[in-house]
Amino acid sequence: MAYEPIWTAHPDKLNKFELVKLEKDGLDVIRTIIENYANEGYDSISADDMDRFKWAGVYQQKPKDGHFMMRVRINTGIMTSAQAHALADISTLYGRGLVDVTTRQAIQFHWLTVESLPDIFERLEKVDLYSFEACGDCPRTIVGNPLAGIDPNELVDTREIVDEVNRFFLLNRDFSNLPRKYKMSISGNTYNNAQAEINDLSFTPATKIIDGKEVVGFHAMVGGGLSAKPHLAQSLDLFVRPEEVLKVAIAVTTIFRDYGYREKRHHARLKFLVADWGPEKFLTKLTEYIGEMPGRGEDKTIGWQAAYFDGVHPQAQKGLNYVGLNVPVGRLSADELHELADLADRYGDGQIRTTMSQNILLSGVPDDQVDELLKAPVLQRLTPQPKHFMSRTVSCTGNEFCNLAIVETKKRAVDVAEYLDQHVDLDEKVRIHFIGCPNSCGQKHIADIGLQGSLLKTPEGLVDAFDIAVGGALGSGAQLNKALKGRVRGDQVGPVLAELILYYKENRNPGESFYAY
Ligand code: SF4
Repeated sequence: MAYEPIWTAHPDKLNKFELVKLEKDGLDVIRTIIENYANEGYDSISADDMDRFKWAGVYQQKPKDGHFMMRVRINTGIMTSAQAHALADISTLYGRGLVDVTTRQAIQFHWLTVESLPDIFERLEKVDLYSFEACGDCPRTIVGNPLAGIDPNELVDTREIVDEVNRFFLLNRDFSNLPRKYKMSISGNTYNNAQAEINDLSFTPATKIIDGKEVVGFHAMVGGGLSAKPHLAQSLDLFVRPEEVLKVAIAVTTIFRDYGYREKRHHARLKFLVADWGPEKFLTKLTEYIGEMPGRGEDKTIGWQAAYFDGVHPQAQKGLNYVGLNVPVGRLSADELHELADLADRYGDGQIRTTMSQNILLSGVPDDQVDELLKAPVLQRLTPQPKHFMSRTVSCTGNEFCNLAIVETKKRAVDVAEYLDQHVDLDEKVRIHFIGCPNSCGQKHIADIGLQGSLLKTPEGLVDAFDIAVGGALGSGAQLNKALKGRVRGDQVGPVLAELILYYKENRNPGESFYAY
């Protein structure tokens, strides 16, 4: 180990899982999977190593009968058509043809067996993709602006920066044992495309006059995260030049590694340390690592578009367009992904981009090719002109595959969106997020309407139900949504939301929107 972990001085203050991590680094499980478990099978996997599978990007799938889910890092959401084909092939061969886009721009498979994992790791590596550290107590997929490099609203093209930060942290054993998961976002987009406030560390576009010249760079925020106790990230009084992003990321991650709480797992995220220290003390500690750096300049974030891009839009490059497609609740088939990859090659720049709203973009489409592209059969379902409610519905995995889920979510979310599109005529788009348990992978707290799965006692017994919260938003008026009273049966969610939205429609003030600010 290249560094001396300082927290081990107090082993009595470590939670049980910390001891598991100290006994064997999470990254070591990758070799054990390849050399042992893939040959010896599911029943040979030890309980502790099963917990460490997360470092390989792999979780047990419900109902723990030998199947796994895998998350693949798509940093900043940008992949090539060759990578998309490789992902689709893996899904077809081992994942029953299912592909999920997650709310952190990653790709998720289901139904994998332990025997298939070495071949999947190899197939991914051949196209420079990795599932490693997409889960676990380590730096996860770096989210960012999916429009990086083609964005008319971009202050800095962040592709190389994201690549540099990813290459530094990926499989880096100095940072593979953090107190808990650790999420970074890096975006130069002025509409907050990477949802900065809900990340442990985020970089957002900014400028500062230094030595009489305007310098383009970033502001930094720390301590955001959702789950059962959501926190919005807090700004540091810091201006970061593009070439300094890695230095700051290393320092913040080091502080989290060495000072983050390891006593109680549910209290181990960076957000709790930042809440206790406050941004000033955090910056003082950070300065010990990065040296004196300039304070904040001018913030260049001018709004929030919630990472939605449906439709055809001009790129920064004249004559070229990107096309935002709706992927209902983030789920598509392997065949559809192959078709999108073919379209990216035939009509676009050979790239496919995933968004934090669980959707997909095709980019680099010349003006005179747009009409032909839009006729493609696959775009009739994955359409750039989705119905209002379907276009803004997000869902976590839910109890179809997730062991922590209390209720089913994806099918419910589609049913509710279809119901609302049939019964509610509204001239604006309302963002509705479903989650199956308090962990909030579906980012319920930032939705216009957030639904959290629960159970309700009825004369027929316990039934799926949802708690409803309204008014979440990010950007300059960022706020978490607030709970409404009562709990709604799952089969009543559509009609109840229809009533709620129609009440709003009839009573809104002129110029008012459902959007919280
Ligand atoms: Fe599973 Fe809960 Fe996350 Fe949904 S929010 S995917 S149910 S852990």
